[in-house]
Amino acid sequence: MVVATPVDRRPQQRAGRSGRRKSKTGGTSKATRSTRWVANYVHGWTGKLDWRSIIWLGLVHVGALAAPFTFSWPGLVAFLVLYFVTGCLGITLGYHRLITHGSFKTYRPLRWLLALLGGLAGEGSALMWTAIHRKHHVLSDQPGDPHSPRDGAWWSHMLWLGPHPGRSVHRALVEHYAPDLLRDRAMVFLDRTFLLWHILLGLGLYFLGHLAWGPAVGVSLVVWGMFVRLVWVLHVTWLVNSASHMWGYRNYETKDDSRNLWWVGLLAFGEGWHNNHHAFQRMARHGHKWWEVDLTYYIILLLERLGLAWNVVHRPPGRRPASH
Ligand SMILES: [Zn+2]
Ligand SMILES: [Zn+2]
Repeated sequence: MVVATPVDRRPQQRAGRSGRRKSKTGGTSKATRSTRWVANYVHGWTGKLDWRSIIWLGLVHVGALAAPFTFSWPGLVAFLVLYFVTGCLGITLGYHRLITHGSFKTYRPLRWLLALLGGLAGEGSALMWTAIHRKHHVLSDQPGDPHSPRDGAWWSHMLWLGPHPGRSVHRALVEHYAPDLLRDRAMVFLDRTFLLWHILLGLGLYFLGHLAWGPAVGVSLVVWGMFVRLVWVLHVTWLVNSASHMWGYRNYETKDDSRNLWWVGLLAFGEGWHNNHHAFQRMARHGHKWWEVDLTYYIILLLERLGLAWNVVHRPPGRRPASH
């Protein structure tokens, strides 16, 4: 529901390499760039907004404003634990490396559990997330990419979530890019019950805090464990789409603008080594140099050691990643 703007109907306005307007000095001027993203955004607005996503995202951001008035140490612990559980186990391990790219295999109940945790990151169901991300890989920084910084930094970060192309376009997107997930009833069930799990988690946090420390800590657990954590995980994930396609260094010459950005690598549990990932999409390991810390890969290694992960794509057949 939230990551729900495939932008097929967005006009192919986005300037590719050849289509970029240049300033007199030969580079793209700042004014031209900002004009372009505003223009793109307005063009992309077909008259419909994705109100479900906008209200959802607005709500969690407004709720997070209560953070300074509701701080407690148990609340901070809830934030940190759920940041890891939903951001790392749910999004990067579950949604991204397992479900979208098939970097390893695991038992179906564990796959469903990781999909549930990914849903609790507030970025939409696995159906939509996977479809949009696979489309991003197919059309990286080309016309049709759902969130390329070539259309503007803010567009790639979060504005692309605003316009609504229509239900039929959404459905076509999932059918085209994620037919494997549509055949999995558990994934469809998690898609339909997306909001329910957030409500249950919020209630669970409140009652836990209330019973253990009193009502004020109950509220603190909800504000910090839900709203603050959701905002944090959302922006960390969005930084992979925006910052890691603009800033940083490249280990590989890919056709897109993907970059390796160390601080996104740390915040997003290894996802910031985004140029490595675009070069070798199925590889379970995103950090290719010894110092490119990739916590999600270490977890996959642990799962493999425990017998919970197999067919791990440590390196693509026939190709070698950078020397370590
Ligand atoms: Zn990318
Ligand atoms: Zn990917």
